[in-house]
Amino acid sequence: MPARFKTIIEPFRIKTVEPIRHTTREERLEALARAGYNLFLLKAEDVLIDLLTDSGTGAMSSRQWAGMMMGDESYAGARSFYKFRDAVHEITGFKHIIPTHQGRAAERILFGTALKAGDIVPNNTHFDTTRANIEYRGAIGLDIPIPEAHQPQLDHPFKGNIDLEKLEQVLKENGERVPMVMITVTNNSGGGQPVSMANIRSASEICHNHGVPLFIDACRFAENSWFIKTREEGYSDKTPLAIAQEMFSYADGCTMSAKKDGMVNIGGFLAMNNDELAGHCRNMEILGEGFPTYGGLAGYDLEAMAVGLFEALEEDYLRYRIRSVAYVGERMKVAGIPFVEPTGGHAVYIDAKTMLPHIPWHEYPAWALSLALYIEGGIRSVEIGSVMFGRQPDGSEKPAAMELVRLAFPRRVYTQSHVDYLTEVLDYVSQQRARIRGVKIVEEPPVLRHFSSRFAPAHGDIILPEA
Ligand SMILES: *Cc1c(COP(=O)(O)O)cnc(C)c1O
Repeated sequence: MPARFKTIIEPFRIKTVEPIRHTTREERLEALARAGYNLFLLKAEDVLIDLLTDSGTGAMSSRQWAGMMMGDESYAGARSFYKFRDAVHEITGFKHIIPTHQGRAAERILFGTALKAGDIVPNNTHFDTTRANIEYRGAIGLDIPIPEAHQPQLDHPFKGNIDLEKLEQVLKENGERVPMVMITVTNNSGGGQPVSMANIRSASEICHNHGVPLFIDACRFAENSWFIKTREEGYSDKTPLAIAQEMFSYADGCTMSAKKDGMVNIGGFLAMNNDELAGHCRNMEILGEGFPTYGGLAGYDLEAMAVGLFEALEEDYLRYRIRSVAYVGERMKVAGIPFVEPTGGHAVYIDAKTMLPHIPWHEYPAWALSLALYIEGGIRSVEIGSVMFGRQPDGSEKPAAMELVRLAFPRRVYTQSHVDYLTEVLDYVSQQRARIRGVKIVEEPPVLRHFSSRFAPAHGDIILPEA
């Protein structure tokens, strides 16, 4: 596309529409109190623009819907499975492809098969379900991103990179306790930041020198490929598909939530080259997910994934997606809102620690900010901070590395005017920042507490009235 015109247009036409509902500020305050000040517990219809997650929330294409009509619902050996398997094989090159109902099922099968208590799994940054599944096995999820990852305002083209020196050190000192190393592309919990090809290649060399397999958490493999194409020397002429193929060539397997770059509402897979491990994983698959040619999915879901995985790699789509997220960052910069820079692939991450310095970590500044965005604008975001990561396996509590509010963009769902509305709300809430107050937890479950804890304002109100 020539650079003459600046307006970001969606590279698609809209064929089906779903109304969204305006609510008043009063209605939102009531809904929030009913939900225990937890945005996960809201009714979705009380949300105007839902940026809670980009997971499973995308719009499918006419080609995907057409594919679904071709779904083969045979219990075993369905045609749809082979179509799905061939698509995944073309992109990843892996020998064994095991469909699952979503990413965490792939994690549970892999870790249930390969980990034992006391093991260590290094990663640039584990996603919450990945960490939870590792810890459930009694193993340790070790986050070793490069040091730049912890400085929100520092610009770096590949802030998702894993720290190669630390990786080498862990493998040297504790190699026998490391059954696998993981790299998450893009690094979701670390700000949606990409990992460079050079970093993946070097990590792969280090792992293989120590005889340890490398698994990619591939949820956003297509977005990561786009960042490599546009930011890493030597890749500008390569297609996103060729880049993805090279990325996977350095790994021994992957876990995937197709609810992200698979462009589907449900689905995922586990893939690997090791025959023996794959055999064990297939047995676990039958135990929990289903026969290995459907893995917890309908035949039509496999068809939708087979098409969606390639649509995620289309250049027009990736250019529009990454550009519209960057646009939100540009507007936040103008509004003086601190965020993780540069903007990530699927989301922007507001740095609530810097934005709300008057709220201590144990009153959860990022949680409070996410509530304020809902109260003022009907926007649902998610906290990635001390509520999500503060509770330790031994029961103690400590502050998370960062206090972030993530605004994640569903794929092909919202238009440029929705994005403009969002930036207006962000600007307004930023102007009110001194009035925002923290929260306390009044009810907490034993694991993954952010999903179902109930909260209350720590100081009477989330947003104090104007003085
Ligand atoms: C979403 C996600 C997962 C888990 O996938 P689900 O489909 O939600 O179970 C794992 N890792 C990363 C990086 C993710 O973004």
